Amino acid sequence: MVIMVQNEIKQLAIVSGKGGTGKTTIAAAFAALAKNKAMVDCDVDATDLHLLLQPKVLVQEKYFGGRSPHVDLDKCTQCGLCTEICRFSAIDNGVVDYISCEGCGFCSHICPEGAIKMEEAFSGDWFVSEI
Ligand code: SF4
Ligand code: SF4
Repeated sequence: MVIMVQNEIKQLAIVSGKGGTGKTTIAAAFAALAKNKAMVDCDVDATDLHLLLQPKVLVQEKYFGGRSPHVDLDKCTQCGLCTEICRFSAIDNGVVDYISCEGCGFCSHICPEGAIKMEEAFSGDWFVSEI
């Protein structure tokens, strides 16, 4: 969290080794005390500051971050190699479990048929809002 006080930028770190302990709630409470503020929730997995602030959305855009595997099943011979090497158990003979996949791309390198291609992944939306 970065706070601007009389043209001077102050940084305040709110940390915890565990999720769900209230870091965002504390940050929002401090921010509520500041005037003329811009607030940015940069959590890459689960932004939740908007749940507290009830923003009026001004801009909404799609965000593409990272890549995910796409399999050409016409080329796949079901050899099982991708299933064997994926440490996240995210692909089964060419069928990808996109929830478990971390997008590392290893399967696309080892597929002997060249059936797996990594493509840009839709990760969610970003917003600019007024609070
Ligand atoms: S490694 Fe390639 S050919 Fe083998 S099962 Fe996976 S996608 Fe199919
Ligand atoms: S990209 Fe990585 S995590 Fe995803 S299926 Fe392939 S090997 Fe597994």
